Amino acid sequence: MNYKKLRAFLLLSVVCLGLTLPLKSLAADSFNILLYHHVSSTMPRSTSITAKEFEGHLAYLKANDYTVVDLATAIESVQQGIPLPKNAIAITFDDAWRSIYLHGFPLLKQYNYPFTVFVNTDPVDQKNRHTMTWDMLRELKQHGVTIANHTQDHDYLVRKPVYDQKWLNQALNNIDDAQQRLTQELGDVPKWLAYPYGEYNDLLKAALKDKGYIAFGQQSGGVAEFSDWQALPRFPAAGAYSSLKTLKTKLASQPFPANYTEFKNPVIRLDQGNQNPPILDVALTQSQKLGVRQQLSCFIVGERQMPHWQDKMNFTVQGSTALGKGRNRYNCTAPIWGQKNYYWLSHQWLIYAGDAPPIE
Ligand SMILES: [Zn+2]
Repeated sequence: MNYKKLRAFLLLSVVCLGLTLPLKSLAADSFNILLYHHVSSTMPRSTSITAKEFEGHLAYLKANDYTVVDLATAIESVQQGIPLPKNAIAITFDDAWRSIYLHGFPLLKQYNYPFTVFVNTDPVDQKNRHTMTWDMLRELKQHGVTIANHTQDHDYLVRKPVYDQKWLNQALNNIDDAQQRLTQELGDVPKWLAYPYGEYNDLLKAALKDKGYIAFGQQSGGVAEFSDWQALPRFPAAGAYSSLKTLKTKLASQPFPANYTEFKNPVIRLDQGNQNPPILDVALTQSQKLGVRQQLSCFIVGERQMPHWQDKMNFTVQGSTALGKGRNRYNCTAPIWGQKNYYWLSHQWLIYAGDAPPIE
């Protein structure tokens, strides 16, 4: 190639790169969901973020080119293969806490960010002083806020001695009756459920799928086409997770490409001899991004565990000691090649002995 041709080639390359790079960086095929409860300095710290900290999160999103998206639009985009803005984030709250209305809503209005509140309807009907009134919820909805289902009474849906038809009917009635109350008071609401405490089992998940519900858990991770639509992950962003330092990593993370619908039943019954610590089997959905295989590491009860690879597409991971009763999470991350962020995968287990649930 002579000098003239080389120069023309280089020029063309630069023009092409200039055209393709920005286009590529504007679109994404996944998004992350943040989970909050109270926006308060007086409610229990484990599920609260102060108004000041919350504003810090919103300011960070704005300053770092995150696009806060409407959850329904984001779900539809992923399901239909429509590109999302790069760095898309959805904001959700569980429980109809009044502090969301008093301290969260004014900030979200100021930033013009859409959000979703998952409502347990009994405390609203009972006019609990810490929860919103139906009028407050109507006002949110008029402002474009999405209101969705978090059951009637926030029951532990799967902390029951047996999982028979009676159990399933009761759980489904709890959900359907809440859906009916929301519709009566607020008009159209999406057919979504946030599991109380993020707890579910395979039977409940399958029944919700049959009934056409999309459901959300409390395990970490992002949403993509390969997600389990009856156990969508959300990143807890309050309490111990309020600090911007830990939030930054989560916001920038991408969902680890795995076959989430095949994940093991999350309820480990100690009274039925289920293995504890449980083994999580993960099947990858794609191999092209797997320069990360050596660098994938998992964290279980604060301890680092290396995964065991059966082949290029499958690994298992297990805690080193029995998990304590209640909720536990396996979190696995791997650096994304050429970027400063991580692929993230998480599974929440419920270690349960069939006894009466705690009061939380
Ligand atoms: Zn809740």
